[in-house]
Amino acid sequence: MDNKTNFEYLLSDLTALNGVGIKTTNLLKKKNINNIFDLLWKLPKAYTDRSLSTKVKDLKIGENQTVTVVANKYLFPRIRKLPNRVKCSDETGELDCVFFNSYEGYIKKILPLGKEITVSGKIGYFKNKYQITNPKYVSEDSSLIKQVHNKYSLTEGISEKIYNKIIKQIINKLPVLKEWHSSKILNKFNNIGWNDAIKELHKHENIGKYKDHFYQRLAYDEIFATFLVNSEIRKKIKKIKKKNKIINLNKQKQLINKLDFSLTNDQIKSINEINNDLSSSTKMFRLLQGDVGSGKTIVSLLAAFNTINSGFQVAVMAPTEILARQHYKLAQKLFPSNISTELISGKSNYKEKKLILNELINNKINIIFGTHAIFQKTVKFKKLGLIIIDEQHKFGVNQRKKLSDKGGNDCDVLLMTATPIPRTLTMTIYGDMDLSIIREKPKNRKMIKTYSKLESKIDDVIKFIKKEINSGNQIFWVCPLIEESKKLDHTSAIQKFEYLKKLFPKQVSILHGKTDINEKDEILKKFLNKEFKILVSTTIIEVGIDFPNANVIIIENANKFGLSQLHQLRGRVGRGEKEATCILMFKSNLSENAKKRINILKETNDGFVISEEDMKIRGFGDILGFKQSGVKNFKLADPIQNSDLFELAEKEIKRIELENENLSKFKPLIKLYDRADIINDIA
Ligand code: ADP
Ligand code: MG
Repeated sequence: MDNKTNFEYLLSDLTALNGVGIKTTNLLKKKNINNIFDLLWKLPKAYTDRSLSTKVKDLKIGENQTVTVVANKYLFPRIRKLPNRVKCSDETGELDCVFFNSYEGYIKKILPLGKEITVSGKIGYFKNKYQITNPKYVSEDSSLIKQVHNKYSLTEGISEKIYNKIIKQIINKLPVLKEWHSSKILNKFNNIGWNDAIKELHKHENIGKYKDHFYQRLAYDEIFATFLVNSEIRKKIKKIKKKNKIINLNKQKQLINKLDFSLTNDQIKSINEINNDLSSSTKMFRLLQGDVGSGKTIVSLLAAFNTINSGFQVAVMAPTEILARQHYKLAQKLFPSNISTELISGKSNYKEKKLILNELINNKINIIFGTHAIFQKTVKFKKLGLIIIDEQHKFGVNQRKKLSDKGGNDCDVLLMTATPIPRTLTMTIYGDMDLSIIREKPKNRKMIKTYSKLESKIDDVIKFIKKEINSGNQIFWVCPLIEESKKLDHTSAIQKFEYLKKLFPKQVSILHGKTDINEKDEILKKFLNKEFKILVSTTIIEVGIDFPNANVIIIENANKFGLSQLHQLRGRVGRGEKEATCILMFKSNLSENAKKRINILKETNDGFVISEEDMKIRGFGDILGFKQSGVKNFKLADPIQNSDLFELAEKEIKRIELENENLSKFKPLIKLYDRADIINDIA
């Protein structure tokens, strides 16, 4: 077999396995195991050693043991409830094999009288006799049983036996792939090749040996494959030549002077980085990362302003209409009147929309705000120079790449995310982009006071918010969905709404996933205008809207949320100069562990620190829904445990870029680790 065929075996369909039927294949597919390579990551969790056999007289009660006996007699009672029994023995004593719910025919087949049969199972003792109940391992061929049997987390309908059989088969056929790493890298893993590493990975004696070379090497493979793809995408984008923008710093300064605050150092640094990109002759593909309330909007509007002043159009996309409108309003307020701003709304009628589309293509509109609707095919620009996308941390690499292709070569792309994540994860998820980070919060910000309260103490909370309302403040009251799977279950929010309405007549409103979109807009507008005081909602208030007057947030059932999500929710308040409070409500007393977690929130308002802690607790896949984001979950690599491997991969990628190394040797790696959909024409 040549090398190519070799690695393609790993990518072949499960039907390539011997003795695996369509039923098993379908069950595996349900678990997202679609080819042989996917099965390589189905690892043993534990094992039972059945390799040593013993004599009946030496059997140990309660242990898994293997023994070779002869079946002497069947006892098949006529009474339904009683089990079937096969009396067996060796020269040292007697052993019964006991079967509940097994057919006589089956029993006769696996334990024919007079033959030596090897059985293995947990040894019991009943009426002075050894017995094995429902023995799973029975065979005339003792070698099939006298082995170590690995245990796997089972897919429904697939037994341990089948897994052992399948995995063994794959390991036996495992191709020898040509090494893709440099000898220097390989050296760090004691020169273990991919094939050997996989073999080690599946050995029962290696379960849990995360620090061993074989494990580290395979984890590194995953990280490196991801980084390599990111690097390729970056390179491709960097190759795109564009017409550079000319930044008018004077005008920029005039706009900055109009603000009623001074920019933070990180904001200034970010603007400078963006301006550099805008005025360069290669396409910008940049992520602006900053915690909730760190002031990303103004940075992006300055970028828009500079782009417009250079004669280009700008499109700003927000995840919700209300957020799009908020940005639009701010732009109208800040930009001089000769700049024409527009909003495409779901509410605009056909005629209005047609007019907008017409003005866009004729370059009469300088900047347009909207939801994803602004990227429909019907929306055409005359001279689009910058796309800004707000709060889209859940965009996957593929979606981003499509975006970067949109708007043509002259169009720069700026993404914003309020999801501070650890550096290792940023490298993984956003490695295809350049990065600007705002770590510093505006100076006037006060720490959000965070408390935890038992639900039974709700009267204290009511007292507190009465006081707040009397001093002119507004309150968010967040109720999680009762069952996350049923996205429509907002019973708890509705109940709370009814309860609060009685206490605060005419001061409470409610918002949930089923609220009509127009009504939702209306409610949020009224809340912004302080027409009522308490907004009860599910978590849909999570995203980006700025309510400077709301300074209290109550989060019910707080244990249902991860730290990062609590931090995001909490970030809805404390965006102005007022002192803000967050009250986390719990149904029952907190465990020590939960207390520790909540203390992190009480002690810091730094989203980066919080996300790091969150990841240590919950694993990176879980935080903020990255699982759904199209980001590949690593099978072995862990951004916390393996941060050194991430650093190593980053360094190696830099070296490869610098030396312009030929990438063809990495082709199997990329293909196997399933990133080829992104760059199918690599090497
Ligand atoms: P986010 O980064 O979460 O998108 P915003 O851009 O919405 O944050 O900013 C939050 C609030 O902070 C807004 O009311 C904004 O006007 C204000 N803000 C932004 N930058 C500063 C600053 N340098 N000093 C004071 N307030 C600021
Ligand atoms: Mg924002």
